[in-house]
Amino acid sequence: MAFEYICMRCGNSDYETADFRSAGSLWDALFPTKKKLYLAVTCTRCGYTDIYKRKPENNGS
Ligand SMILES: [Zn+2]
Repeated sequence: MAFEYICMRCGNSDYETADFRSAGSLWDALFPTKKKLYLAVTCTRCGYTDIYKRKPENNGS
C-alpha cells in the first residue's frame, strides 16, 4: 500500500503501519466498532502514532 506520511510531530517520513480489526480486544474497547478497519501509522523516529479509519475493502464477487 502506498501511503504518504509525514510525522506531524517530528517531520520524519519513515513509519510503520499496522492494521487493526475489531476482535474483542482492548482495542475494541477503546474503539467500539463493528467491522471497521483502522490503520495505525507509527513514526519510527519519535513513536508518534496516528490512527486512520479505513473502509473495509469491498471488492465483491
Ligand atoms: Zn515522528
